[in-house]
Amino acid sequence: MPENHNLYARFHKIFTDRLDKTLLVTDNGDEWRYADVDSSAARLAGLLAQSGVKPGDRVSVQAAKSPALLCLYLACLRGGFVFHPLNPAYQAAELDYFFSDAEPAVVVCDDATLDVIGPLAKQLSIPRLFTLAQDGSGTLMELARDADADLASAYRDRHDMATLLYSSGTTGKPKGIVLTHNNLYVGARALVQAWGFTEDDILLHALPIYHIHGLFVALGCVLLSGGAMRWLPAFNTEKVVALLPDCTTMMGVPTYYTRLLGNKDFTRETAAHIRLFISGSAPLPAPTFHAFEDRTGQRILERYGMTETNMNTSNPLRGARKPGSVGLPLPGVEIRICDCAGAALPTGAIGNIQVRGENVFREYWRRPEQTQDDFTQDGFFNTGDLGVLDEDGYLSIVGRSKDLIISGGLNVYPAEVERVLNGLDGVSEATVIGIPHADFGEAVVAVLVPRPNASPQEDTIIAATKQKLAGYKAPKRVVFVDELPRNAMGKVQKNVLRREYQHLLLQQ
Ligand code: AMP
Repeated sequence: MPENHNLYARFHKIFTDRLDKTLLVTDNGDEWRYADVDSSAARLAGLLAQSGVKPGDRVSVQAAKSPALLCLYLACLRGGFVFHPLNPAYQAAELDYFFSDAEPAVVVCDDATLDVIGPLAKQLSIPRLFTLAQDGSGTLMELARDADADLASAYRDRHDMATLLYSSGTTGKPKGIVLTHNNLYVGARALVQAWGFTEDDILLHALPIYHIHGLFVALGCVLLSGGAMRWLPAFNTEKVVALLPDCTTMMGVPTYYTRLLGNKDFTRETAAHIRLFISGSAPLPAPTFHAFEDRTGQRILERYGMTETNMNTSNPLRGARKPGSVGLPLPGVEIRICDCAGAALPTGAIGNIQVRGENVFREYWRRPEQTQDDFTQDGFFNTGDLGVLDEDGYLSIVGRSKDLIISGGLNVYPAEVERVLNGLDGVSEATVIGIPHADFGEAVVAVLVPRPNASPQEDTIIAATKQKLAGYKAPKRVVFVDELPRNAMGKVQKNVLRREYQHLLLQQ
């Protein structure tokens, strides 16, 4: 019998020695042991199989984060069904798009959205619909109680699809990203090794689980090392502060760390039991890195990845963690920086980040041309991120290629300007966008959130930037806002800002 690459089978090897151990404790104090999760996953897989779902079929799920949802993810892996999680914020038109594209054999949704999803599922002829609420109630868990628990992990080839997640779609329609059982296994194994996860670790899990960060990075590290979790349905600063002394590791988007710093109860003592704070999914501003070190004595470890590739680089567990850098390639990952024509660039040159390795996704779901466009002849994936490698091989990200600003024919990398702005007095956070300009084609506009009780002035900001950067990189205008538009993963939605301020410079 050839090797079974089913990720659940890999996890299961770890579970069997730990069945009576705690896997997670929720904020209500509910405890789920490895045995509880394993048996729920088995019954859920049994239920889906009995209902006629076959390996390779998609299971589209829009439900609140809960231990039952985690079990459903594991059940899909176990049965060889393709887990397709959806952000609970998606509305009817978005769901219509995802269901039409994914063509699921099953939809799982919250009771509260049944009036929208029920008719939609009928209209799209989706054969099965179950409900699952945050407290685990609903038809899914109810029916699973009596289902067959004997279904073994389905045989899966290394190239078989495990999950379908969609790109965030800030340009054009979201694309389905096909991740295989092997992609996910290799990705999680590299992180366990790089970050030293063991069965003694307790991870503070406050991330959503419809996105790779909470789903593959966080859960992958815990399930493959046999550790445990303190589980929150969402990030809540007070709850995190209260739970940190019970944990050994925390993963978060940068916003989590800025929010912690904004809470006076978050002290050196609160953080003392944590051996590793990890940040990713969006750039961690250097001032946050430094303020965090001043407060806690700990240097946040920043890493870089994307849905298409899992994790690519990480600052080291032992060794220098450089603020503003996303670190070194992870084991098994090759990184190179290329120009627009695809030629490799030397150390210190800014260019497109390309990635190759077993972590990289198989293809875009039913979009062969797009897949072909985004891979090079020699098998590297073009990430669409712009970056630069330093003398020590550390990568820094300078923006997305689509966010690159070309002003009067000169390239302006937003991250460089944002770094300067974030370091200015009175600035809490800043982002930089390119706006149509009659003369320069595009010009730099800064959108700033002032610090509480500060009122920075536009001309002072522009003058201060010009002291540190060439004039063409300085903003032509500065707009002040109360907060930046961000998605749930903490990424600034530059497309929203570009749309809002598109006429700002043309009116002048
Ligand atoms: P997603 O597929 O939603 O995880 O988004 C992936 C994108 O997030 C990457 O292509 C980067 O543009 C961005 N990203 C992830 N981690 C970082 C990081 N540490 N610093 C800057 N950008 C990041």
